[in-house]
Amino acid sequence: MKQPESVDECLYFTRRKFEPKGGAVAWVFRKQCPKCKEGLMKKPKKTSPTYDCPKCGYAEPKKEHEETAELNIEYECPKCGHKGETTVEYKRRTWQGVKAYVFKCEECGEKIGLTKKMKEPKKK
Ligand SMILES: [Zn+2]
Ligand SMILES: [Zn+2]
Repeated sequence: MKQPESVDECLYFTRRKFEPKGGAVAWVFRKQCPKCKEGLMKKPKKTSPTYDCPKCGYAEPKKEHEETAELNIEYECPKCGHKGETTVEYKRRTWQGVKAYVFKCEECGEKIGLTKKMKEPKKK
């Protein structure tokens, strides 16, 4: 699988550790502008409702843009230790009561979720 060379190439990038073992790196590549085929679509601001092409200015609504994106995942299964890679829809689903990107270990079938934020233990 093609890996991003820098986070700049990505719409989304995350690195996670699983308990008690394993982990995953997941990313979504920025899409090429469908109009001029040159620019890489990007949100001008974090809160922006569209992704814009920096070259020709073409704008695509956030929802449409993200619905057609793919999440690439490289993982080490927390259950069986299998190392693999997979691609899923860039869409959060409900997993163990929380919203997460969910994928399946190709070896043991374990469903693995990448939640929005891992709970950090509280520091005192
Ligand atoms: Zn363009
Ligand atoms: Zn597994």
